[in-house]
Amino acid sequence: MSMKRIAFAILTALTLVLAGCSNPTPAASQKLTVVATVSPITNIIYNIGGDKINLSGIVPEGVNSHTFEPAPSDAEKLAQADIIFVNGLHLEEPTLELAKANKKDTAEIVILGEQTVTPEQYLFDFSFPKEGGSPNPHLWLNPLNGLRYAEIVRDTLVRLDPINAGYYQANYDAFKTRIEALDAAIMATVESIPAANRKLLTYHDSWAYFAPRYGMTVIGAIQPSDFAEPSAQEVAGLIEQIRAEKVPAIFGSEVFPSPVLEQIAREAGATYVSDLRDDDLPGKPGDANHSYIGILVEDLRIMAEALGGNPALIANFDTRNVPGTDDAVQQQQ
Ligand SMILES: [Zn+2]
Repeated sequence: MSMKRIAFAILTALTLVLAGCSNPTPAASQKLTVVATVSPITNIIYNIGGDKINLSGIVPEGVNSHTFEPAPSDAEKLAQADIIFVNGLHLEEPTLELAKANKKDTAEIVILGEQTVTPEQYLFDFSFPKEGGSPNPHLWLNPLNGLRYAEIVRDTLVRLDPINAGYYQANYDAFKTRIEALDAAIMATVESIPAANRKLLTYHDSWAYFAPRYGMTVIGAIQPSDFAEPSAQEVAGLIEQIRAEKVPAIFGSEVFPSPVLEQIAREAGATYVSDLRDDDLPGKPGDANHSYIGILVEDLRIMAEALGGNPALIANFDTRNVPGTDDAVQQQQ
């Protein structure tokens, strides 16, 4: 064999070895395609994955995520995904079904909620009664659960894209620092609310996992479990309850404008605050406060203002994403 032939043979062997090494790890130029459902989850993923992943969110901001039905175009998105992150606890059943039916064989579906709490820790309450079979799914409104979601995201990205492990870990560390500061700021803000006012009566039943962490009590939710409007009898009962418990304010939801709330507040002598949010990020894509942290900062500022606390304790909290503005995220609007 001539030197040239030997060199060629070695090169061929090397090429075969390299080809044989191909595994799910994407090459440097080939980013993981990640699809999520609701915007707080998409945003948590963005905080860890940054520009090293292609990220899109399916549930448009500002729609009822609980009854959302994905479109045929979402099936295409799910078919291209390497990883599909969902909340679970029955929040996104139609999207989860569509994901299972359309995903690539190699794609992973990660149900964040199921790795965050055990079924024994599921909470059933006003709009999510036990007999309905679906637990309250709003785990992420407790930021410690949001941090656990981030940890699961980090571990999944590190495993499937080890080349960028250091980047994902560094983003997680920075996010953890922010969440710990947020947790402390929320604690201080709630403590500034007079103890007798630390009560939440909301339209949408989102605060079940938040309230026990910070010493607030969810005394009721107005939205019935079928997401319809409450009956006249239920409205009368709520007015009685608000009077009896001397609740200073009741809270509506941006996503669910309800005409009965104003009436309930007026007749019960409470202030009506219309704009709490649970899965709709404040601002617009690219804005500094268009973030998961922004949701909690905005909500706590509003609660403190309405319940006699000090909103200044949280109003200026840094809501920016760890990797910067989120223009590159394809979250349906
Ligand atoms: Zn909700």
